[in-house]
Amino acid sequence: MSSKDGPGASPGPSSEAARKRLRQQATRDTAPEMALRRELHRRGLRYRVHVRLLQEVRRTSDIVFRRAGVAVDVRGCWWHGCDDHRPAPRANRDWWFQKRERNRSRDDDTLRRLEAEGWRVLVVWEHEEISSAADRVELAVRGCVIKRQAAENSANFGRALRGSRRYRDV
Ligand SMILES: [Zn+2]
Repeated sequence: MSSKDGPGASPGPSSEAARKRLRQQATRDTAPEMALRRELHRRGLRYRVHVRLLQEVRRTSDIVFRRAGVAVDVRGCWWHGCDDHRPAPRANRDWWFQKRERNRSRDDDTLRRLEAEGWRVLVVWEHEEISSAADRVELAVRGCVIKRQAAENSANFGRALRGSRRYRDV
């Protein structure tokens, strides 16, 4: 990556170390998402990936369970600025800070919009253990499916429970 890649007149990553970190981060951003998807699949959950749920803005949700109305947003600690892992780079501090702040406010905005449209949004951070993240997602998805099915026909509640064990997003 060259320094021309920075937005406008702002400098991009200045050192070789920063460039290396940028490259690593780009792949690390997707690694937790892939791991989570594998684990959810292993548990019998089926989902869509990178779905655009909002009409008014061009943003996609990472993992989507349409029938349950659950959307999962997997966030890399560095780019999305989690509260625990926000290292301040020595060079170009402002450029990085502004980039992360932009990401954070866009994340917040997306979450608000999705929730306004009735989606249950789960945020999974890169630093979260995959199994506990998968637990949260599984609980939310199966819970939402059961609730919806039960509401449709309370007599079928037992069947809804059994059916949800092999959840498929259709
Ligand atoms: Zn973190």
